[in-house]
Amino acid sequence: MIYTKLGHYSHPEHKLKLIHSHTPYKCDGCMDIGFGLRYRCKPCNFDLHKDCMFATSSANHAFYKDSVFKFHDSPPGERDRFCDACGGDVKGFVYHCEAHNRDLHPCCRNLPCRIEGDGVVLNLKEKVTSKCYWCGKRELWEGVTGWSYVSTCKTYHFHVSCVKDILVKRWEKEYFNGDGNYSSVSGGALEIDRNPDLELVPYQGGGGGRFVKYLKMVKFVVKLIVSTLLGDPTAIVASIIEAII
Ligand SMILES: [Zn+2]
Ligand SMILES: [Zn+2]
Ligand SMILES: [Zn+2]
Ligand SMILES: [Zn+2]
Repeated sequence: MIYTKLGHYSHPEHKLKLIHSHTPYKCDGCMDIGFGLRYRCKPCNFDLHKDCMFATSSANHAFYKDSVFKFHDSPPGERDRFCDACGGDVKGFVYHCEAHNRDLHPCCRNLPCRIEGDGVVLNLKEKVTSKCYWCGKRELWEGVTGWSYVSTCKTYHFHVSCVKDILVKRWEKEYFNGDGNYSSVSGGALEIDRNPDLELVPYQGGGGGRFVKYLKMVKFVVKLIVSTLLGDPTAIVASIIEAII
């Protein structure tokens, strides 16, 4: 059974309704950005990721078999913490392993280990040897690689943090009109209604057919990762990728 209206202890005043919208939001649980599905209280503008809504009191992860993660609704301890998966700041809901000092955002804890589509298989990896296609680096910062999706052919590699970055950059551009001003278009909602098919942009200049084929695959791989993470294989994701790569 799917419950579309549920209560959550972090917002006892009202029930939260499961909605799917094309407007990005800030999750009031982990304080990180979200897209697609969310639990929302409209009058209070209160939102929770699905993973934050259903966070459990303890959790584990295949990458850290020696860790037991406890759920905290605010970062434990004094020092700044970051998520071991995406490298992002921990500002709210978090799974924390005290013994090994590890932290995971609820959404990052639940990232699928394997993504598959049209014959392409991507595996979530804790350690990588190649450079990320998006940032051109292996490490997020010194000594920290974060998690990545890597194709089985090893050609295509994207940090989880870079996939988030792609989405946020695109959103900021649309939402703030690129000049810091709030967009007045339909009350600030993102209106993206383009062709959901990822058409190949003709490559100008040298490189030839092999580069075009590579670029096409990169677009496909990013689309596959992002649509899986958002649970939205349709228009918005495809058009975001189309516009940015
Ligand atoms: Zn959240
Ligand atoms: Zn409310
Ligand atoms: Zn994270
Ligand atoms: Zn990267």
